[in-house]
Amino acid sequence: MQGAVAPLRVEVPGAQHHRGLISCQVACPVHTDARGYVRAIASGDFERAYLIARGPNPFASICGRICAAPCEASCRRGKIPLSDEDGFFVGPDKPIAIRALKRFACEQHGVEARPPEEAFAAVRGYVPEVAADAEELAALLHATVTPGFERGQGEPVAVIGAGCAGLAAAHDLALLGFRPVVFESEPVPAGMLALGIPEYRLPRELIRREVQVIEALGVEIRCNTAVGRDVSFADLRRDFRAVIIAVGAKRPRALGLPGEQGPGVYGGVDFLRAVSLNETMPLGREVIVIGGGNVAYDVARTVVRQMAYDTARTAARMPGERRVRLVSLETLAEMPADTTEIREGDEEGVERLGGFGPVEILRDVAGAVTGLRVKRCLRVYDDQRRFAPRFDEADVRTFDCDTVLIAAGQTTDLSFLESGGADVTQFRPGWPKVDEETLASTAPGVFVAGDLAHGTRLVIDAVASGKKVARSVYAHVTGKRLAPGILTAHLPLDRYRRERGYEKIRRVEIPVLPPEERLHHPAKLVERGFSEPEALREASRCLDCGVTPVFDGTRCVLCGGCADVCPTLCLKLVALTDLARTPELDEVITAAGLDGASHSAILKDEDRCIRCALCEMRCPVDAITMERVHFTATWSPA
Ligand SMILES: Cc1cc2nc3c(=O)[nH]c(=O)nc-3n(C[C@H](O)[C@H](O)[C@H](O)COP(=O)(O)OP(=O)(O)OC[C@H]3O[C@@H](n4cnc5c(N)ncnc54)[C@H](O)[C@@H]3O)c2cc1C
Repeated sequence: MQGAVAPLRVEVPGAQHHRGLISCQVACPVHTDARGYVRAIASGDFERAYLIARGPNPFASICGRICAAPCEASCRRGKIPLSDEDGFFVGPDKPIAIRALKRFACEQHGVEARPPEEAFAAVRGYVPEVAADAEELAALLHATVTPGFERGQGEPVAVIGAGCAGLAAAHDLALLGFRPVVFESEPVPAGMLALGIPEYRLPRELIRREVQVIEALGVEIRCNTAVGRDVSFADLRRDFRAVIIAVGAKRPRALGLPGEQGPGVYGGVDFLRAVSLNETMPLGREVIVIGGGNVAYDVARTVVRQMAYDTARTAARMPGERRVRLVSLETLAEMPADTTEIREGDEEGVERLGGFGPVEILRDVAGAVTGLRVKRCLRVYDDQRRFAPRFDEADVRTFDCDTVLIAAGQTTDLSFLESGGADVTQFRPGWPKVDEETLASTAPGVFVAGDLAHGTRLVIDAVASGKKVARSVYAHVTGKRLAPGILTAHLPLDRYRRERGYEKIRRVEIPVLPPEERLHHPAKLVERGFSEPEALREASRCLDCGVTPVFDGTRCVLCGGCADVCPTLCLKLVALTDLARTPELDEVITAAGLDGASHSAILKDEDRCIRCALCEMRCPVDAITMERVHFTATWSPA
């Protein structure tokens, strides 16, 4: 006897369904239409690609170099099955190299390619057809010229900290009609972009150019001006209509080890800052970096470069070996650093000592560092993936060294709140209590943005937070709200066709400098970026998730041709009676006036659909159209 087949459970697409499909745009904290610029590159329209990328992000060119690219992590191309020449499944495909493509577009038409003001004028003049490629910035610009829109009247707003959050806030505040003044304790603006991220990953001239655009909008940046030292927090609250605290988390977190205090032991971020400012920090010949994340790699790889540079200059006087070792709790498989960082670190000579927890920094009688005592780490996380290291107390070793750099997280310095910020409540020392919706602190007129608001994250998170806080300040000062909205449009595509063989193209690897050339100079860029043919090829792999086949049930003759022709078998024709009934499905059936017994449904597996349009071409009764679904963030006064 045959067993009964269980009814199929299906998800009925709701209002947000299509929005969720463009996973790269959803994953980006500022909702950059990555799909839009990748497809623009594929079509050879590089300027449009740049304008789309720059729209919501004042640091598009910088992000083209160093963004941690959450868009790539969620790219659907990275999830579809990849087959070999014989059609055998060889694993999931790789995501589109979205960040490198952004770099390519920016290099053609961004601040890299023309005077910064000219690049921005193009962005400002780019009035995309609404619902075609309207980007968040364009929406903001449209909003500011909408009748009834109350622009700021040049009210002064103080921003503490010229990092990406503070500058992104100032950028949007200037567009909204305010007069932002940014107070920065360091001699240069841009926070960790300029003083943390090493120059071999991010050219300093590029930072200067993006900051120049922000200044050209009327933003005043006062460097060498520390709040709490050169100006009091109370003064800012008195003289400005609102204050945004965006001071980041720039203090290295100490480990509290015996021997940690004293010469020869430094914070990793302090070391990177010193290198960036050409300040001297004495390094020995045997350096140990403690940490297993990307910052630890930035530190270790910078040490390697400093050593190579010093060796080249002083080789005759100082013979002998130098080495950099990275000690981490995690073994290779668990290390939080990106695979690229680990591989390139290996290539450059960073030695890994994984699976050890530091116990003590050893010093000789004169106080000089002589070694790092460690114990074997048996496990870093517990079964719930919570940080809960366990050690083998019997397996204790000593690694010789004369310098230790600690890269095990950062913390904040809010000492400036002593001068007039007692009402800024901290939920734990160093971290202010922040309203998640408005980024307001507990003190009236005082807002918080960036790493300080949400903990240490990514550049693009800090940018998103800066933009968000600008809108809250607008509401606070004008008493009006910029109401965010989503505009969804379905645009039928008459002549939609894909590049030949796009589904078989493998990810184009991003070209990098050979290891032996990287250490010639500390600022030598490792990543070379795509050439035009490489960019065109890589962009052509994009599945264009914004396009989708739409089925007209009134025309369909149930021939099944669409399902037969589908190369990924993502379509299936089933009787409605075979489906598990849910309230959502019932609603659709009732709305369409179907009886639910004699009708059929076409099911589509969104994860597998590669938008090839073969179903549309095959349909004998034109019941399938390819449509572009576009969603746009809008801002209007409310
Ligand atoms: C070494 C390193 C490498 C990184 N690499 C990447 C990467 O490749 N990709 C990525 O996405 N993210 C990266 N990050 C994370 C990213 O840099 C941060 O998330 C981001 O910079 C946070 O921005 P922010 O504006 O909140 O703070 P910050 O960039 O830290 O800026 C804060 C600013 O406030 C200033 N300030 C502090 N106190 C005062 C005061 N009292 N008065 C005046 N000014 C003050 C500081 O000097 C600083 O300029 C990295 C971080 C580090 C440390």
